[in-house]
Amino acid sequence: MTPLPTTPASPTAHAPPRHEVARIGTVSMRALWRSGTPRERGLIFGAWLTSILASVGFGLATVAWGWSGIPLLFGGVKVFITIYPPLVICQLWTLCFGWWWGALPAYLATLVLALYAGMPPHWALLFAWANPLGFAVLSLGYRAMGPSRGLRSLRSWLFYVQMCFVAGVFSSAGALIWCYTNQIDTIGQLPIWQGWWLGAFLQGVLIAAPLMALAWPAIERWQQRRPALCQRESADPRRLALRLTLAVVAGVVGYGFLSLRMGASRVDETLRSGELALLPAAAQVMLSTTWVFFWVFALIVVFVGLFGYKVFVRWMDETDRLVARLEHANSELAVLSRTDGLTGLYNRATIDALLQEAWQRAKRFGEQPCSLLILDLAHFKQINDRFGHTLGDAVIRSVAAAMRESTRGADSIGRFGGEEFIVILPATDAAGAEFLAERIRLRIAQSELRSAAGPIRFTVSIGAADFRVQDEDAAAWLRRADAALYRAKAAGRNRTHLAGDDESHKAAS
Ligand code: GH3
Ligand code: MG
Repeated sequence: MTPLPTTPASPTAHAPPRHEVARIGTVSMRALWRSGTPRERGLIFGAWLTSILASVGFGLATVAWGWSGIPLLFGGVKVFITIYPPLVICQLWTLCFGWWWGALPAYLATLVLALYAGMPPHWALLFAWANPLGFAVLSLGYRAMGPSRGLRSLRSWLFYVQMCFVAGVFSSAGALIWCYTNQIDTIGQLPIWQGWWLGAFLQGVLIAAPLMALAWPAIERWQQRRPALCQRESADPRRLALRLTLAVVAGVVGYGFLSLRMGASRVDETLRSGELALLPAAAQVMLSTTWVFFWVFALIVVFVGLFGYKVFVRWMDETDRLVARLEHANSELAVLSRTDGLTGLYNRATIDALLQEAWQRAKRFGEQPCSLLILDLAHFKQINDRFGHTLGDAVIRSVAAAMRESTRGADSIGRFGGEEFIVILPATDAAGAEFLAERIRLRIAQSELRSAAGPIRFTVSIGAADFRVQDEDAAAWLRRADAALYRAKAAGRNRTHLAGDDESHKAAS
């Protein structure tokens, strides 16, 4: 018997697939310039340049007409709001097209207004980063959590509102620079700072959000049609989520600290100066600030709780799905590791182990016979040469099917080598083995495969050997069966030879 060297399965060590998908909501300026249609380019860049001019104009108007820190009574609580239209324009660009589209006009608008208001240029250059910083947090939030920008569901609304708040707090860092460069005292800082973040938040929720809900469906459809114009997403979602968490925590903690510090500073100063007549007014400011602080914190806690729960549920569902898939894959793997890929019969290692077991049982208990067949496809090399390997494989499969159909469930069939097979027949004596071998042989000899080059007919030679007590191990038993096969082949193939006493003698010698 000459087991054929089997070609090892090609290694499947592919790199894990990277999720490189078009990131809807981030249009690449370069891609649009290079591959956009003239109409797309004209429309989008035209609208964008107009937005830049409008932002600069509105920015100057905010300073000229004093739209910053406007006091408002809000349910009996006095709050300050800054109206800054460039924010709405640039936030829409950020959400629909990506950070650069919103950050650039926002930066220019703030830079121009700061210079116009007389801020030293080096401070103005830093100050102008305020809104782009807020937008960066907003974009990060959408990238990390990936909710729809369409604001059509409660979830997407809540997310948007929360992100507007955190982005507003981040961008209000600009208010601190403004207060510092304008030498505004601690009492005057509160209206400016609160006006900034609250103004940003309210404009984002009351003006930008409805516009977004109206515009997004069409923009989204267009971006889905033109994925080539969108940037690719390849960042690790875990890292994005971590960054978002850090940003939210920093925003909320910073907000809490500034809120309380600015609210308390007026009371502090009044107490220190000893002018107790001013105390009620200072206490009133502190009270208002504290209530604003409470409501904002309460909202944040609700949002964070809600999102935390949503994320947890999604994670659990994902885990359940993964576990189910893993179990399925494991059971498939268990079958695969025991079987031969081409035929589905037991593979070499498994049939070897089963043969070992059969020998042990026969040797130890001995009351029941057990037999073994070795089959070899005759002139298989010629079949391969003449019809090609694909049809050769089909012949091997057809032989496997014939063996499966001719045997009992208790029998074990394995592919031993290239075109050699083994059948273990428990509770079967020599006569039974010979009878079964003939049935298989005839069935195969009578079968035929159709091919373009004509019908393919093939036969097998079979060596059969029943277990004998002198088989001192499984290999000896197998050698006798193999010797019988050799005889069947030597006698002209397409026949069965049953190992007799001379085989055991021959195999031993
Ligand atoms: P004999 O009648 O003496 O058994 O001759 P043979 O041609 O069948 O035997 P030989 O051992 O010379 O050749 C076996 C051939 O089986 C050679 C090899 O290319 C082919 N073979 C082995 N495994 C596979 C397989 O999985 N698919 C195909 N198509 N061919 C295989
Ligand atoms: Mg052969």
